Amino acid sequence: MGRTICLDLDGVLHQYTSPWTDEETISDPPTPGAQTFCANLIARGFDVVVNSSRCRTPEGTAAVRCWLDRFGFPSEVAVAGRKPSALVYVDDRGLRFEGDFASTLEMIGTPDTAPLPWNKKTPEEPKSRPTFENELSRLINHHSMESGSDTPDFILANYLKGCLDTFNAATREREKWYGRPAQAEERVVLSEPTP
Ligand SMILES: [Mg+2]
Repeated sequence: MGRTICLDLDGVLHQYTSPWTDEETISDPPTPGAQTFCANLIARGFDVVVNSSRCRTPEGTAAVRCWLDRFGFPSEVAVAGRKPSALVYVDDRGLRFEGDFASTLEMIGTPDTAPLPWNKKTPEEPKSRPTFENELSRLINHHSMESGSDTPDFILANYLKGCLDTFNAATREREKWYGRPAQAEERVVLSEPTP
């Protein structure tokens, strides 16, 4: 255990862009650099063990061994049917637990928003900006502010956003009642763009 690195197969060493068929079918080539990565770990003195749910059956274990050999992985890379005791686990679906359940829950999200492995993300997903409500929801969760009223963080976030909207609408109405012109957003131009 002292120097074992446990590597996941599908989505880590194996690109896994084709859909799952069965334990014995490993359809795609390695993720670029996977063989060198394993060789570097071995050169640093680590024992490298691949653990995959494919190894539930002897045929699946044989298929993993065969795939590693076919693509020139170092022969020292072992294949384990059970999750071994290891120093570090490398997995495309893992989260690192840092002793804080609130932030872990935040990272997991909901079944609809749970993080996807790198090779299952669409180009839009990593670029999508969190909304104000989502960020507020995370902040409420992080500080356990939902516990005071036992109200889910996203409901509180929507409520607070609603408060701001109502306040803005009220101030606009007030200005209108006094006959004052609606205030335009103040914009400070720091520098003119150079042509
Ligand atoms: Mg995986």
